[in-house]
Amino acid sequence: VRGLQSHKVAVLGLGRSGLSATRALAAGGAVPICWDDNPDARARAEDEGFVCRPFKTARDFEDIARLIVSPGIPHLYPAPNLVVAAALEAGVPVDNDIGLFFQSFATNDWNKFDVAPRVVAVTGSNGKSTTSALIHHILTEVGRPCQLAGNIGRGVLDLDPPVDGEVVVLELSSYQTELARSLTPDVAVFTNLSPDHLDRHGGMGGYFAAKRRLFAEGGPDRAIVGVDEPEGRYLAGQLCEGRADERVIRISVAEKLTGPGWQVFARKGFLSEYRKGKQTASVDLRAVPGLPGSHNHQNACAAYATCRSLGLAPKVIERAFHSFAGLPHRSQLVGEKDGVRFVNDSKATNVDAAAKALSAFENIRWICGGLEKEGGLAELGAVASVRKAYVIGREAAGFALKLSVEAEVCTTMAQAVAQAVAEAEPGDVVLLAPAAASFDQYDNFEQRGEDFMAEVARYV
Ligand code: ADP
Repeated sequence: VRGLQSHKVAVLGLGRSGLSATRALAAGGAVPICWDDNPDARARAEDEGFVCRPFKTARDFEDIARLIVSPGIPHLYPAPNLVVAAALEAGVPVDNDIGLFFQSFATNDWNKFDVAPRVVAVTGSNGKSTTSALIHHILTEVGRPCQLAGNIGRGVLDLDPPVDGEVVVLELSSYQTELARSLTPDVAVFTNLSPDHLDRHGGMGGYFAAKRRLFAEGGPDRAIVGVDEPEGRYLAGQLCEGRADERVIRISVAEKLTGPGWQVFARKGFLSEYRKGKQTASVDLRAVPGLPGSHNHQNACAAYATCRSLGLAPKVIERAFHSFAGLPHRSQLVGEKDGVRFVNDSKATNVDAAAKALSAFENIRWICGGLEKEGGLAELGAVASVRKAYVIGREAAGFALKLSVEAEVCTTMAQAVAQAVAEAEPGDVVLLAPAAASFDQYDNFEQRGEDFMAEVARYV
């Protein structure tokens, strides 16, 4: 990494991204010095020959050129991280693997490419993974070299060196965007905004600020912005300053956008593209199997706009939509028996995502519960066609009380699936959309979704 050769770089947190940062720094000629409070994580780094040493005060940073912080480590909220504060006190710049990636990407020898590689960065509260995977899928289908990394897939520092015409698609969470010192994608996508991780960002303002860093001054050549919330409208307005500026593509699933600029919206199952006030394309999304529900139509709009920005034709994108299989744990049909469908949306870890999953189906037997996040649970059942809720989680009884639909306390997944199966009638959908984190009972949402699928497999 430019400017860090032979310098000592502290790496705090030795999970997937921390370890890959450590390896990349060493490979690039820097001297990584790592730390993780977890001795097992340290042992893994030491096994690879890396040096570990604790960092506590500013003095520990005297010989350090930069501090790389893992996304899992809060640095300011809910409580200021003393290690990060000590680094800043010692005048050490704080960065993360994403910042290192952009810094080294920018040092490519651009003359060696016929078609310069491009970086697409996707952020937003929900739909990031689906949108990123969909962009990757479309580009792969048309034979364009493409790599997917960030919050999904590989760590950004594990990517292969770019080849001619390649597109690197990065899914970036707010934890990743808030710290990166360098954030210079060619295309930046902001899907939507709803409350999530607010404790880490000191409220909604901080959360939005972390995400919008992707669009800073001198930012991307093209910005694709979801305008269904005030924050997105504000961001798009600020980027264009009233001009009909084609550097911004507005996307929506709430309103028809036909203004003088460039826009893509989806209504009643049809995606429309308008440029300079004229419709330039229409795509029927109704029979696209991997993208059910209007939330997925929002993801389709974002991916469509991105691929149009990269020069793909509407028909080509439409064809690729149809072969997209969707991602596991997001509105995933996992079984069907006697007219009852079983759908796994374990990834619905917050209220907004669960609301979207619920609104895509009818006659729902809803398995929910877990570690509660921000509020809004009471409204959830009321807006959807929920027949009954089956509540899991250590605090299932308290969770059930907050719902406005009939709810049975089941606590375990096995019990919830058994009860829902016993009561389901033909035409019902047994839907896991927890509206809560999984950590009270599982290591992660994937494990929770797999448990659901294993229980469903006993009946179908
Ligand atoms: P992320 O990577 O941002 O968490 P995912 O694509 O993994 O997004 O989807 C997360 C959850 O949010 C899933 O439960 C899914 O059903 C729901 N979801 C997907 N796309 C959207 C969207 N555009 N708006 C709201 N919810 C969505």
